[in-house]
Amino acid sequence: MVEPIRLSTREEREKWMSEAGYNLFNLSSDKVYIDLLTDSGTGAMSDRQWGAIMTGDESYAGSRSYYRMKQAIKDILGFDYIMPTHQGRAAENVLFSALVKEGDVVPGNSHFDTTKGHIEFRKAKAIDCTINEAFDTEDMHPFKGNVDIKKLEQVFETYPHEKIPFIIITVTNNTAGGQPVSLENLRAVKEFARSVNKPVLFDSARFAENAYFIKVRENACAEMSIREIVREMYKCADMMTMSSKKDAIVNIGGFIAMNSEELWKQVSVFNIIYEGYITYGGMAGRDMEALAVGLEEGTDFDYLKSRITQIEHLGNQLITWGIPIQKPIGGHAVFIDAVKFLPQVPREQYVAQTLAVELYLEAGIRGVEIGTILADRDPETRADRFPPLELVRLAIPRRVYTNNHMDVVAVALKNIWDRRNSISKGYKIEYEAPIMRHFTVKLSKV
Ligand SMILES: *Cc1c(COP(=O)(O)O)cnc(C)c1O
Repeated sequence: MVEPIRLSTREEREKWMSEAGYNLFNLSSDKVYIDLLTDSGTGAMSDRQWGAIMTGDESYAGSRSYYRMKQAIKDILGFDYIMPTHQGRAAENVLFSALVKEGDVVPGNSHFDTTKGHIEFRKAKAIDCTINEAFDTEDMHPFKGNVDIKKLEQVFETYPHEKIPFIIITVTNNTAGGQPVSLENLRAVKEFARSVNKPVLFDSARFAENAYFIKVRENACAEMSIREIVREMYKCADMMTMSSKKDAIVNIGGFIAMNSEELWKQVSVFNIIYEGYITYGGMAGRDMEALAVGLEEGTDFDYLKSRITQIEHLGNQLITWGIPIQKPIGGHAVFIDAVKFLPQVPREQYVAQTLAVELYLEAGIRGVEIGTILADRDPETRADRFPPLELVRLAIPRRVYTNNHMDVVAVALKNIWDRRNSISKGYKIEYEAPIMRHFTVKLSKV
């Protein structure tokens, strides 16, 4: 599928940005030239996927497409029990309805924002146990998504075990910069979890990209295929939530998968209330077909290599010019270190948001803030939470843009880099929602 994109003038963008309250989520997509807001649901489906869509079975119960998707999940990830949901956060909502209670704590590696939202919404607490190397953008650790086992042990020493329903591992670690978790680390977490008798949940949106990094960076796995690595990874998980809009390369969809029939029964109740009957869970039959094909295509080595090499193509140009980015370059996006880029802009004025707005004004490119606005307020004190890093994420949709588009993005950033000393002021909040404020926040210039 080829879609036209539209150039605009700086004057137009100034006007549109002001009307949008300096929030890139508020822009209509026809005002965006190159859209790197997210890699979620923005991929281009393949000929095989479009073909499969035509064979979708829309039966309410027991659809053939459900069984096709179930088989693909069994073949690739190894789980026997599955539950379709309309996307990743719906999987979290359904699963956490069964597992997370008020006062619980859920340790993991930089919980994704919706994951954290669903934990905090239930008056439970998410505790980040990511290794410290992840918070230094210059550190070249090959697996910056890893869980620090010592930090994990500390959580179990601090809180009563009955308050800890499970351990969550996000593969790849989105919030820390699309950074992978090593197979060695997954195994270490599983071993620890076994010793404390707790299940492990993989938040699996980018499991295939994680497997690619294991193959190219973890010596013991160099000769294994992506599929073999995926199977090894999932031997360390008791259950998974999946946003299929990422590595399953569909525009909408998600699922929960698990080994326990007992849990599946518990979760079924919530799926029926929130999502739909257990054999479609908010997905159309045709979308389940596309998802099954997408899981296969998304775990193909050549595809993964071309995708991740494109992200390196963009990141390496920025590195050449001295632009500070999270290193090593992540799996689905390039993350710019906004504090190092614009040190003169106070963090209270949302420095990563300031840089994201500048990039849009410069060339109509839409990235996203992964910083203080996203981190939200502390649920108790209501003060802004300053996360360890202020990042602008440039997420690359799958199979959509060429390296020429990447070059336009690189040059736009270089232009801002050259005049960075002229940017000294950021933004202040005019309106915000009580939870997940980044989607609807309205800002004005300081
Ligand atoms: C996208 C994402 C989710 C949520 O999935 P949606 O499909 O957007 O609801 C959860 N976890 C991670 C790591 C993600 O990247």
